[in-house]
Amino acid sequence: MKIEIITTGDEIMSGVTLDTNFSWAAEKLTGFGFILGFHTSVGDDEQAMIEALAIAQGRSQAVIVSGGLGPTPDDLTASVSSKFFNAPLELSDEALEMIRKRFKEQGRELLEINKKQAYMPQGSHVLKNYWGTAPGFRCEKGGVVFFFLPGVPKEFKSMIEEYVIPELDRRDIGRKKYHSRIVRTFGLRESEVAERLKGIEREDARIGYRPRFPEIHIRVSGYGDTEEKAEKLVSGIIDEIVLRLNDYVFSTDDERLEEVIGKLLLEKNLTLAIAESCTGGLLAHRVSNISGSSNYFERGVVSYSNQSKVEVLGVAKGLIESFGAVSKEVVEAMAQGVRRLAKTEIGVSISGIAGPAGGTPEKPVGTVFIGISHEKKGEKSQRFQFKGTREEIKLIASEVALDWIRKFVLNYV
Ligand code: AMP
Ligand code: MG
Repeated sequence: MKIEIITTGDEIMSGVTLDTNFSWAAEKLTGFGFILGFHTSVGDDEQAMIEALAIAQGRSQAVIVSGGLGPTPDDLTASVSSKFFNAPLELSDEALEMIRKRFKEQGRELLEINKKQAYMPQGSHVLKNYWGTAPGFRCEKGGVVFFFLPGVPKEFKSMIEEYVIPELDRRDIGRKKYHSRIVRTFGLRESEVAERLKGIEREDARIGYRPRFPEIHIRVSGYGDTEEKAEKLVSGIIDEIVLRLNDYVFSTDDERLEEVIGKLLLEKNLTLAIAESCTGGLLAHRVSNISGSSNYFERGVVSYSNQSKVEVLGVAKGLIESFGAVSKEVVEAMAQGVRRLAKTEIGVSISGIAGPAGGTPEKPVGTVFIGISHEKKGEKSQRFQFKGTREEIKLIASEVALDWIRKFVLNYV
């Protein structure tokens, strides 16, 4: 069964409103194993809407229309569908009753203009809207089922769950079960990931790439006669992905990197302190976004100025004078300084030039040093050359630091 979604409204066509109804519904329906064939968007324009409905009727078996059910003159969906179905608009007592009740509950007066929302093409079924005032409706033409739903996202979503999915379920009996998981990777470019995964495709399975700077996520989805078969197909492919991408994979269950390192630190009973310069606290922010991080994250220091590196972290003034604040020597002293201050097992530090100003020929914009200090293993650091805007450089620096923590803890004995 092919499903089509038509989203309507001038605000969608002009780019003012992001078409979140489509992406939400598409993900929801796909998650239930339905297959979307087409997505169309049209403005509040009678001719365009009729054309879109006619095309959908010719190529799909179920059509979901969002928007245009409001009381104002630019809400055309009811009158357009009446023309399309060749069925006069009729006052639905059921819909009117629902609207009356809704207004009464809210202590609002029902205006004549609101009654417009109770009119729908003859022969259609009312879809009650418990989350707003505009009822939807369902009709059939030539074996194709049409759902007309309000555009307000909360109402649209609720009505998809309440009416559309159960109805599609009834109609699409032979549909296969669907399962999907997301693998998260960091460190390879999209083309490098694709190169390594060449030939991994299998029948009834799909591999989709989702670049989420600075990571590459891979969605693996599969169909099967039973849920177990779909799951098994997906996990088989994921095992193969891990084999091929190895250390670049940090989660096979769509977890954030900070979540992964949180679990690892807990597991190994290690604590962490952070000293940041150019990232301005971003690394600490990410680490502390995880509930329960107080169990392993002791403190984060934003030592932005040279003076603060000396005063707070105890970095020797001479080091900064000789090597500069963005250097191997200083970043290692920062990591050691914060670790001693916090009395943790691990200290991590970042110092760099996020730009766009401040670069030199020896240390151009994007030069970042990341350091790590361990009570027994001592200090280590690495120099990186990142590219991008100021915010991108900050983000990737925090990512590399997190990934380094992950690898350090993973190999920790
Ligand atoms: P409408 O029913 O077309 O009058 O839409 C009511 C409101 O819902 C609009 O003003 C938008 O803010 C929102 N909306 C409509 N269509 C969409 C859509 N496809 N995605 C997200 N929001 C929407
Ligand atoms: Mg509208």
